[in-house]
Amino acid sequence: MKMQLGEIASAVSAQNDTSAWNEIEVSSVAFDSRHLSNGALFVPLEGERDGHEFVQSALKNGAVATLWKADHGEAPADLPVLVVDDPLTALQSLSQHYLLKINPKVVAVTGSNGKTTTKDMVAAILSAQFNVTKTMDNFNNEIGVPVTILSMEPNTEVLVIEMGMDRPGQLDFLSRLVEPDVAIITMIGEAHIEFFGTRDKIADAKMEITHGLKADGTFIYDGDEPLLVERAKKVSQRQRTFGRQKNNDMYALNVDATDTQTTFTASEWPEQKMTVPMIGDYNVNNALAALSVAKLYRISPQASAKAFGNLNLTENRAEWVSGTAGERILSDVYNSNPTAVKEVMAAFSKVATTGKRRVVLGDMLELGEQSDGLHAGLATVFDPTLVQDVYLVGPHMKALYDALQDKFEVAHLHLYATDEQSQLITQLNADIQPEDIVLIKGSHGIHLENVLAALQANN
Ligand code: ATP
Ligand code: MG
Repeated sequence: MKMQLGEIASAVSAQNDTSAWNEIEVSSVAFDSRHLSNGALFVPLEGERDGHEFVQSALKNGAVATLWKADHGEAPADLPVLVVDDPLTALQSLSQHYLLKINPKVVAVTGSNGKTTTKDMVAAILSAQFNVTKTMDNFNNEIGVPVTILSMEPNTEVLVIEMGMDRPGQLDFLSRLVEPDVAIITMIGEAHIEFFGTRDKIADAKMEITHGLKADGTFIYDGDEPLLVERAKKVSQRQRTFGRQKNNDMYALNVDATDTQTTFTASEWPEQKMTVPMIGDYNVNNALAALSVAKLYRISPQASAKAFGNLNLTENRAEWVSGTAGERILSDVYNSNPTAVKEVMAAFSKVATTGKRRVVLGDMLELGEQSDGLHAGLATVFDPTLVQDVYLVGPHMKALYDALQDKFEVAHLHLYATDEQSQLITQLNADIQPEDIVLIKGSHGIHLENVLAALQANN
């Protein structure tokens, strides 16, 4: 971004006289005084530490101005300061101002799973024809969305933005902030059900992404999900559905998978084979969502297929890596929830191997009262003829451990406490043979990335 401080002062309704500094050029925003680029506007947020304590060091490290919360005492007199009611709100207002100024088309992506993947796919496809800015990593909340907006180059034609939520009202806010041209819901799962209680309520909250959708915008959603089909009836904007069933506007034909990629054709372009460099049938759905956007923006099937070939994916989503013994490890340690485990287990169970399939699963967090039932419910996707050894980690996995008792012999079914990872690693090192394949998946809070690192460590 590139803005003068005077313009920023008016966008955030600064309460103090900033005339002496109005010509200062600002080129980014930053929250961490240790990591900022020259020309940054420092935004002091109140988290574990109060950002206001770091204003001086931010300016020393290259920031050219700072926001300051009005009720936070006297603002430093000698520095370029914009006094505002609330720095976070000011950041959001500033992003909205910048968005209106650059005025790109906005594609907003939400869903219980597949947001980041779909966001990356949409961005890759649209890059065939447009200057695209997309959410970096997973910056998808009330801070990440404004930061993404403010990271846009002035020549951005399309902004592809991921929107996450774990409470009602969050997507309503984010959607109204950006007023998308396209709103996508990838799917409804059980993630965060602790806070919602039911999938119905999750669907209600996800639908909030349509609240700011432009009148001439398009709503694209998983047409196999009855909860969305029912709710979409109340949306007046144009709609497009995708999914596995043939009554969707876009569905997949000829789905086929190898260990590392999935191929299919999209119903609207049956002559063009699509290859996504990932396993898991669920990625076909993510791709169909992205192709629905391609169709809308008249990107050719050939260009879309090419974009899938050069996909620049965010790390740690169902990725193959090699372990010490030469085994192949399917690493999916970034997050976990019931739908995601079922999907990735289905894909993993189909991967050919002359060795054994071993599954390391960590707790799925934030499932609240339904946690035991949802953990035990995973037992249905364990076929002992396809998966030979199971290693479960965390207190919630006890429910799955119990449910698997009659499918697996004790010697092949292990349960560890969250802090027993070193025992788990010892066991895995003893068990794993070069020809084996290993799936590792768990919620981020269980930190199975440590197990992954240990299995790769002696390489
Ligand atoms: P987060 O809420 O953490 O931002 P996300 O919605 O961005 O997650 P991704 O990072 O794209 O999701 O994918 C995370 C995992 O979710 C994948 O590795 C896979 O296990 C699962 N997943 C992705 N897409 C789907 C889908 N369409 N349906 C079911 N599961 C999926
Ligand atoms: Mg994400």
